[in-house]
Amino acid sequence: MSDEANPFESLQEQIDDASRYLDVSPDVLERLKNPERVLETNLSVELDDGDIEVFRAYRSQFNGDRGPYKGGIRYHPGVTRDEVKALSGWMVYKCAIANVPYGGGKGGIEVDPSDYSDGELERLTRSFAEELRPLIGEDRDIPAPDVNTGQREMNWIKDTYETLENTTAPGVITGKAPDNGGSAGRVQATGRSTTFAAREIFDYLGRDLADATVAVQGYGNAGWIAAKVIEQHGGTVVAVSDSSGAIHDPAGLDTVAVKEFKRETGSVSDYGGATEELSNRELLTLDVDLLVPAALENAIDGTLASDVRADVIVEAANGPLTPEADEVLGDSDTYVVPDILANAGGVTVSYFEWVQNRQRFYWTEEKVNEELERHITNGFDDMIDAFEDTDAPTLRTAAYVVAIQRVVDAYQNSGNWP
Ligand code: NAD
Repeated sequence: MSDEANPFESLQEQIDDASRYLDVSPDVLERLKNPERVLETNLSVELDDGDIEVFRAYRSQFNGDRGPYKGGIRYHPGVTRDEVKALSGWMVYKCAIANVPYGGGKGGIEVDPSDYSDGELERLTRSFAEELRPLIGEDRDIPAPDVNTGQREMNWIKDTYETLENTTAPGVITGKAPDNGGSAGRVQATGRSTTFAAREIFDYLGRDLADATVAVQGYGNAGWIAAKVIEQHGGTVVAVSDSSGAIHDPAGLDTVAVKEFKRETGSVSDYGGATEELSNRELLTLDVDLLVPAALENAIDGTLASDVRADVIVEAANGPLTPEADEVLGDSDTYVVPDILANAGGVTVSYFEWVQNRQRFYWTEEKVNEELERHITNGFDDMIDAFEDTDAPTLRTAAYVVAIQRVVDAYQNSGNWP
């Protein structure tokens, strides 16, 4: 989506594109293009100086045909009702392709958290949790972290919910700290699913990830773990970047040493083990076998896409390609493994966290990783079957074909009520 594009309209277009390869009636499709309900609320929060400030907040429950609504809560000044609606819809299809038994939801508060104290953010979060209380629950809607929220906010929401409901319900939210019911392997899950998706596409193309040269844009949670696990699979990570710039070594970077350097200095730039510094654009257009965009949305637009030289792109970030870039790359020889599958590790291990919370029985990291691999490789195989069995032009459209069909089947098997 371009900066001006309305994300909700982009979602509706993607559903329309995929529906051409499905036998779905327009009436059923209409249900799949709009949220079931959206909470819009105004939170009055006392600031440290005694003033009251009002914050706009949303929670969209897009579709619950396959299970409880599931999706993160973001704190960002750019949060809008349409953005939250779109993100909740993408969650429906991400859960469906990864085959986790959830629908899709998303929430957000229009706020820049860096402008507020920890106490103010706690009061804001607890106020939102109180508004959400009638809508959420272990079997209703299970929020999770998203942009600018993490274990701390999840623990506050869980505590508010449990206090007001006079119960214990760790499965009301995922992405918690391990001591509060979080799962082993959750932090690494997105980088791991990205690597499984990369391994599978190379295998499909008759190649080996172990022989691949790799560039990774973004060295945060998703990007750095993907780089490390790809290196463990034998791949050669030749370039990585963060918001400060990019570094390159054709012989391969030591991903763990780069992370240590970033931890100490705050950025990857000036890392002594690289042979040269690059611009972000140069990294994205390097002649590598695999490019992993793991930073922000819209990193690759139509113009940049025509200069991309990677054979394969695996999307760790959400929406790193604009629709124009998708079109350009769709007409090229580059294979793009879409975000809804490649980064589904986050929601898949959230599902495992919820399962463990419900059973009050916790898994080893080894078991988490094994089950994650099963979900992602099965999702990959289903996407490839749809790619080969339909005329779907891209892997993205094929993934939506599989996901939409699953939601339609769940809806039609249940029948309409009343
Ligand atoms: P993060 O904040 O930990 O890391 C983001 C990284 O991108 C940072 O290193 C930052 O410096 C870098 N960056 C920002 N702008 C850049 C630019 N212009 N050029 C190069 N690097 C830039 O975030 P994250 O959790 O790793 O998330 C990254 C992406 O992955 C987001 O799109 C997010 O929605 C998606 N994602 C993350 C998860 C997860 O579990 N963390 C799950 C699903 C999707």
